[in-house]
Parts: sequence; structure tokens; C-alpha cells
Amino acid sequence: MNSKLNPDEIKKDFPILSRQVHDLDLVYLDNAATSQKPQQVIDAISNYYQTSNANVHRGVHALSDTSTDIWNNSRKIITSFFDAEDSELIVTHNTTEGINGVAYGWAYEAIGKGDVILTTELEHHSNFVVWQQLAKKVGATLEIIQIDEVGSINVDALQAKLSKFGDKLKLVTLVHVSNTLGVEQDLETIADLVRQKSKAKILLDIAQSAPHKKLSFKKMNIDFAVFSGHKMLGPMGFGGLLVRRELLQSRDMQPWLFGGGMISSVTITETEFHPDIDERFTAGTPDVASAVGMAAACDYLSNLGMEAVEAHDRELVVYALEKLSTITEIEVIGPTAHQVQHRLGSVAFVHKSVHAHDVAQILDSQGIAVRSGHHCTMPLHQKFKWQATVRASFQVYNSTQDIDALVAGLAKVKQVFA
Ligand code: PMP
Repeated sequence: MNSKLNPDEIKKDFPILSRQVHDLDLVYLDNAATSQKPQQVIDAISNYYQTSNANVHRGVHALSDTSTDIWNNSRKIITSFFDAEDSELIVTHNTTEGINGVAYGWAYEAIGKGDVILTTELEHHSNFVVWQQLAKKVGATLEIIQIDEVGSINVDALQAKLSKFGDKLKLVTLVHVSNTLGVEQDLETIADLVRQKSKAKILLDIAQSAPHKKLSFKKMNIDFAVFSGHKMLGPMGFGGLLVRRELLQSRDMQPWLFGGGMISSVTITETEFHPDIDERFTAGTPDVASAVGMAAACDYLSNLGMEAVEAHDRELVVYALEKLSTITEIEVIGPTAHQVQHRLGSVAFVHKSVHAHDVAQILDSQGIAVRSGHHCTMPLHQKFKWQATVRASFQVYNSTQDIDALVAGLAKVKQVFA
């Protein structure tokens, strides 16, 4: 490979990748569902429990202080990875919880009868069902921005929607990189347009872009961003909601979980919430170990260099698109190899004669892990009339050999169903 990353060396950091499945070497191509974890992340979590475990903030003893320092330091590493301010991070368990946080902490107050929420058919259910349900409850309308055949938002259609709805439009919510089509939206153009033509807030689902490219929350010209640590080499159960500071300071964004740790005083009738934003949004005991693991994952990716990570990913995507385009039984969906600048992280396809689950099962019998189904994007599958699709998705430890294994695996599918 030409990229600066050496996947064979990187693989050695991931203990699970040396295991076998069905007595064969594991070829793990299901990274968009969840990535594997390097030893550095596993050790960071284990070390925390072995040396520093105590509840944060509330203790006056040394171990509690140590744990609090570790929690604060982990937050700093994570926010710096996203080029956000420390106070802009609300820790969640995953992307889904972050989106629900925007709904319960902001939207239920800010969006009312007759208002409009704009989204796309590309969205993962977590960024679709939340808004569909909220719209029903508050009497707002959920409007859909048109996409083209590879999944790029049609800018003229967006412009028309912005003009049509004016100040009624309260939220534009979209996925940065689609987990099904792999298409990356032109965020700069979209965000500029929304800012020029409306006062709507912008929510960006970065679950599939954050693992593969350097993102700056400061520069992205959006209000909310949501991610899942488990897709970017971090632990399951650590996610984040980044909220632009002004929304937190103005208290337009409110806590939506209540309890211990997030208050400054409580009486029988009233509660004063904590003045520090990070504490105000941390109800109950936080998962310090997961934050430590997530910080280790950010460090791991930063040490590789996110530019190198992105270059590596694009190389794998092009290689996969070129190889898969030679297989006549399948139709690759989303941007083509010529449009690779609009594609990140994964390649999905429809098999013309074999059901996606059967394809995945035959691949599994050869040690190859891919995902089959609707990938939590049923509206998108309905639009294009796909029953189910097969997706191979990449991470820093994948190499062109893994894609060769996938191609050989697909030849076996052909043999079995001949
Ligand atoms: N958005 C996108 C684009 C995703 O790919 C996923 C996970 N597949 C999610 C949201 C939901 O992530 P989680 O299950 O970690 O909440």
C-alpha cells in the first residue's frame, strides 16, 4: 500500500485480530458497526481499575481526587481530538443517546407546532426516528432534502427548502458520512447555505466520519455533533455530544437527565443546576474507565496521524471499488472510484441473485466478517428498492489483502449458488 500506515504492524496492537473463526484467520470488515480495540485502550481501562478507581468529584480522599483528575484529563484529550472546547462535550453512551439529548435538552423547548425539521433519507434510524417522533409530538413537520443517485444532497433542492420554510425551519439534521452509501456530504457548502438562509440549528451525525478523518468542531460551522467512541477504536459505551458553547451558556441547551452530581443546590421545591457545564450535564456517576479508554483511542489515532488515517482509508475504498466493479453479479452502491473524494469508510453492494444474508453467511464461513441487511437505514433502502445490502467497512488495520479475501469470498458465493 502507498499510504503511510502499515496495517500489518498496526494489526499487532489488536489482540482480537490474531484469533481465528471457523479455524480460519479472521478478516474483520465490519468496522462501521464497531471497530476493534488496540491493547493500548484495553490497558488504559484495566490500569484505571487496577490503580485509580474511585467515584469522582464527591470524595475528599486522595483516590477520588486522582479519579477526578483522570476524568478531567480524559475529557481534555477527547475534546482536543475534535478541536472543541472542554466545556462543549456532553458525555453520552453513543451517537443515539447524543441525538436524543439534542431532542430532550433543546428541541422539545425550541421546536413547536407548525415548525419544520429538515433531514435526509440517508439517515441512520437514530437520526431519523428521534425527529419523526418529536415532530409528531410537538406538531412540527419532518421534511426531507432530496439526494441524488449516489446519496449527495442536492444543493438546489436544499436552497428551495430553505427559501420555502424561512424562520419556521428550526433544525437541519444530517449524517456527515452515510453508513450505507459511504457518501460524504459537502458540509461546508451545506452549512454555509443553511446559515445564510435561515436561523436553523445544524446537527451533524459524525459517527462514520470521525473514525476516518480529522474534524474540527470549531471550524465546522454547526451547532451539534454526535459520535460513538466504539467506532473509532474506543470502548463501547462511550459517546459524545458536542454542543456549541453559546447554546450552553445561553441555557438554550438544558440538562435532560437529572440527579446527583449535576446540581449546586437542592431544596424541597427548587434545584439550582451546577454552573460548570461539564458537571451540569453529568447526572450520576460517570463511566470514568470508558473515558480513559476513549482518550487512549484518541491518542492512538493522533499518533498515527488523522491525515494518514484518511489517506489509508481512501486507498482501501478505491481498491475495493475497483476490485468489486469487476464482479458482474454485484452492483456497488454509492459514489464510484472516480468520486472517491465523496466517499469514506465503507463499500456496500447489492448481489443480483443471492440474498445479502446468504452472501454474508458464506463470507463468514471463510472467516470474513461483513454486515448484511438494511444497516438501520430502512427509508434509504425503500427509496432505492433494495431488499438488503452487503457492506464491507474499513479501519486502520485493514489492508488490500483483506479486500482480496473478500473478492475471493465472493467467488465462493458464485460457486455455491451456481
Ligand atoms: N449514525 C450512524 C451514521 C451510524 O453508522 C450509527 C451506527 N451504525 C449510528 C448513528 C448509531 O450509533 P450507536 O449505535 O453507537 O448509537
